[in-house]
Amino acid sequence: MITFPSKQPFVATTIFTKMSQMASDEGALNLAQGFPSFDCSDALQDLVKFYSKGHNQYSPMAGVPGLKISIAAKTESFYGVSLDAHTEVTVVSGATEAIFASIHCCVFPGDEVIMFDPSYDAYDPIVRLAGGIPIHISLKASNGYKIDWDELARHITPKTKAIMVNSPHNPTGSIWDPSDLDAFANVVKGTQILIVSDEVYEHIVFDGASHASVLLHPELRKRSFVCGSFGKTFHVTGWKMGYCLAPPFLTAEFRKLHQWVTFSSATPLQYALAEYLKDPNNYLSLSSFYQKKRDLFASFFVNSRWKILPSHGSFFQCLDYSAITDEKDVDLADRYTKELKVASIPVSVFYETPPEDKILRFCFAKDDAMLEEAGRKLAAL
Ligand code: PMP
Ligand code: GLN
Repeated sequence: MITFPSKQPFVATTIFTKMSQMASDEGALNLAQGFPSFDCSDALQDLVKFYSKGHNQYSPMAGVPGLKISIAAKTESFYGVSLDAHTEVTVVSGATEAIFASIHCCVFPGDEVIMFDPSYDAYDPIVRLAGGIPIHISLKASNGYKIDWDELARHITPKTKAIMVNSPHNPTGSIWDPSDLDAFANVVKGTQILIVSDEVYEHIVFDGASHASVLLHPELRKRSFVCGSFGKTFHVTGWKMGYCLAPPFLTAEFRKLHQWVTFSSATPLQYALAEYLKDPNNYLSLSSFYQKKRDLFASFFVNSRWKILPSHGSFFQCLDYSAITDEKDVDLADRYTKELKVASIPVSVFYETPPEDKILRFCFAKDDAMLEEAGRKLAAL
């Protein structure tokens, strides 16, 4: 019998896979895993059909030139930041790959990488696989999950190699404002620290706010890998298409990793996205589209025992159930999936040291009928 030690002995199958499987087994409404219940546009599907003739071989390793150019053009028109399409933009197979390659191209064994909990579940294991030491800083619901930048400064040591950040934030829906960029810049100024900025929800911010990308601050931009995903922006999570924006010296190292992870991403999809990205309406309409869904879902809880936590961006709504039951969130998420037939994600799983909070995350990237049915069932509790 062959045996070998697990490289990830403490890692289980992700909570998203677990809850989606349970939702499917139980016939529950799946407001757990973050993916739309509706399709991408016909126009995008037509482009894929069109480009799947004659564009079916490997693309260049860093991406189809037209897509890199479209991403750079979008970055210029949306943020007013100009990037060199060929030395600062890399097309990858989803933001997960961008995050993995960013960390693995710069983290050496023993390096510390700071992240803020609740943190997306991939961050910690990706750092550990690189031999890095994840340093977790807990954010608090009572403080709107805001980052205390002085607290970050206190966690920096000579071993700090990188800081991972995520705004709009999964799972809480918190977002940064421009003052966060200044405060962050003050912490890293004069250091060699790199930043991995997960901005997959860049086009989903609510109530007139605008997305505070690290690209907007020169002190941050010059040390950042910015990880993006078309999955969120164009309702195509199953395509696993994304990108990494980084200065040339970081992009060069990033690509050395990317070429061993996937080498290149699906060619016809890249051509289709290159074309689709040229029309800004395709992403500018996203915030208002999701804001309506957020408001529809939240409306069910106004006169209920649930407490609505603010969702300023992303497609997630967190709800506090402490007035309903004392159960742990992991148990309650299972029970509601089985008994109420509504699946959610327990927020405590995104912490190294879970707080006592009683909070579940619901994804509102779902058709209105599904949001209404789930809202009615939950609000009746
Ligand atoms: N980061 C965050 C915060 C996410 O929510 C997700 C996916 N849902 C990803 C990264 C991964 O994106 P992708 O599916 O493009 O790999
Ligand atoms: N990011 C999605 C979520 O938060 C899930 C992605 C995945 O399942 N890997 O629900």
